[in-house]
Amino acid sequence: MADGTIHLPYFFGNITREEAEDFLKQGGRSEGLYLLRQSRNYLGGYALSVCHGRKFYHYTIERELSGTYAIAGGISHNSPAELVNYHAHENSGLGCLLKKPYNRPSGVQPKIGPFEDLKENLIREYVQQTWNLQGEALEQAIISQKPQLEKLIATTAHERMPWFHGTISRDISEQKLLQGAKANGTFLIRERDSNGSYALCLLHDRKVSHYRIDRDKTGKLSIPEGKKFDTLWQLVEHYSYKPDGLLRELTEPCPRSDHSGGMFQFRGRSELPTPPVENWSAGGIISRIKSYSFPKAGSKKQGLASRTNSVSTINPYVTRPKAGEKVSEALLHSLPMDTDVYRGIYEDPDELRTQTVKIKREQLMLADIELGSGNFGTVKKGIFKTAKSEKKVAVKILKNESSNSDVQDSREELLTEARVMQQLDNPYIVRMIGVCEAESWMLVMELAELGPLNKFLSKNREITDKNVTELVHQVSMGMKYLEEKNFVHRDLAARNVLLVTQHYAKISDFGLSKAIQSDENYYKAKSCGKWPIKWYAPECINYLKFSSKSDVWSFGVLMWEAFSYGQKPYRGMKGAEVTLMIEHGDRMECPAKCPPEVYELMKLCWTYKVDQRPNFTSVEFKLRSYYYDIAQ
Ligand code: AMP
Repeated sequence: MADGTIHLPYFFGNITREEAEDFLKQGGRSEGLYLLRQSRNYLGGYALSVCHGRKFYHYTIERELSGTYAIAGGISHNSPAELVNYHAHENSGLGCLLKKPYNRPSGVQPKIGPFEDLKENLIREYVQQTWNLQGEALEQAIISQKPQLEKLIATTAHERMPWFHGTISRDISEQKLLQGAKANGTFLIRERDSNGSYALCLLHDRKVSHYRIDRDKTGKLSIPEGKKFDTLWQLVEHYSYKPDGLLRELTEPCPRSDHSGGMFQFRGRSELPTPPVENWSAGGIISRIKSYSFPKAGSKKQGLASRTNSVSTINPYVTRPKAGEKVSEALLHSLPMDTDVYRGIYEDPDELRTQTVKIKREQLMLADIELGSGNFGTVKKGIFKTAKSEKKVAVKILKNESSNSDVQDSREELLTEARVMQQLDNPYIVRMIGVCEAESWMLVMELAELGPLNKFLSKNREITDKNVTELVHQVSMGMKYLEEKNFVHRDLAARNVLLVTQHYAKISDFGLSKAIQSDENYYKAKSCGKWPIKWYAPECINYLKFSSKSDVWSFGVLMWEAFSYGQKPYRGMKGAEVTLMIEHGDRMECPAKCPPEVYELMKLCWTYKVDQRPNFTSVEFKLRSYYYDIAQ
């Protein structure tokens, strides 16, 4: 719970309405006595239980798309606590003012929801098996995509439940429920159509009742006239606990005995192991989910295909491109792990990296598509062929200079960049694939097709600040890795962050980067060069000292560029004027669409004194917390 609610003394977690009433009774039922609990039907939502006229009232607090909270039809608040404080003075919509919180008695902790304690394990297992990831790649995937993965799991967890039978017909569902001596309350859920509507089929007195489960415009599921839920498993949990309008409560799931002969059709997933049914009655939903083991992805591709298919109609997170959008749909939709540049090419033992990483010319095909250019020459799109695969790549091609010494210089620079890149292996850093010496010297790298972050954002201004936060958080993850490896980038700027997709950023351009000697924590330049002064910390300019902390300063400028959608920092100012401004203690202002929390972090990155400036471990953690908070 990233909004801090867990720390409120009157928050009880995932208790039922009846448990809430019991607590309020213990508190004396006084007028306006209240407590807060977690919503059992809405993801990220809460419920406020209040005493009024000796009776109990329960109000749902929904988490809105913007990340704010409101009682249906009421005004929005930044947090549940703010909403509670508001209703202490205004009873708009409530029967009475909130007079006194009922705080948790000593020893009572907020109750963990049916999903909370499982989430971590489920996510890990899901990522491991869907994308075949392990070790660092797995950790990085979880950290960077946690909010998306949580929603993915929450909205697809029903597919793993023994009661979910996919698209079987009404007749077959009846046959299944009537076969054998099944107990009253045995049930299953079948899928009615691909628009996300289902049917709950319930056995009672040798008859099967079919309850339609509809999905409304906002994606909420309900049996007509019944309570609304975000997920099927929450709905089942609710009706297992009480009938609430059904003939009776749900007891046993009707097991999915046979899913091979075409009876059990699962979108995109041909094989799904059936969870052991005997665990059903042994506990709540937790043990039921725990008893399940995810289907093994036969290959990375298969895992991806099944994931994409299974979420295409139900994953609320996936942002659909609007008509006329410039970027291809596939690039908008995928998670970083869906792309072939999430893991390094040399992770495959069959693609063993040689020491020199020399690439033979015949392995490389150059396309006539220029991705960018600079003093060194051009960057072109190409194809890198190995025994097993062909991979799209970016190729930095040195121009053959007129003078011999120029050629020597630029080759030296290219090799320096290659040597740095060779030592780095992180999903949020452009990896080098190798160097090719042929008609020109060429540096072969992973392709980040959507190009530099600043240009992309200036052309796509409709991109949400949540999306921008996701991208800069990924950059901070890449920089945290660089900091741990004792490398300084020295040219961190939005132009040097390249996008693989709208949701996947990689740090590039290691031309100025240096490894820091183990006995120092900074790199001392011998002289000033052609430097990006506006991105440089004061100690770089005044003492030619570069450290990860000076990269943190640059990262602050990069965040400013990102949240101003690609504008140039310190517009219209010369380098010397910027230096003066910084020495005076002035900093750039908050960009118009930048959230205040992010601006505070920018200013922290622009702390004058190096030892008071945060490092990337701290910056990444702060950004992560903020991102989880808004992306929940
Ligand atoms: P650089 O000198 O490394 O900054 O490269 C110049 C330009 O080439 C960049 O601004 C990008 O537009 C493009 N470029 C460089 N590397 C890549 C890459 N790995 N993938 C896609 N485009 C790239």
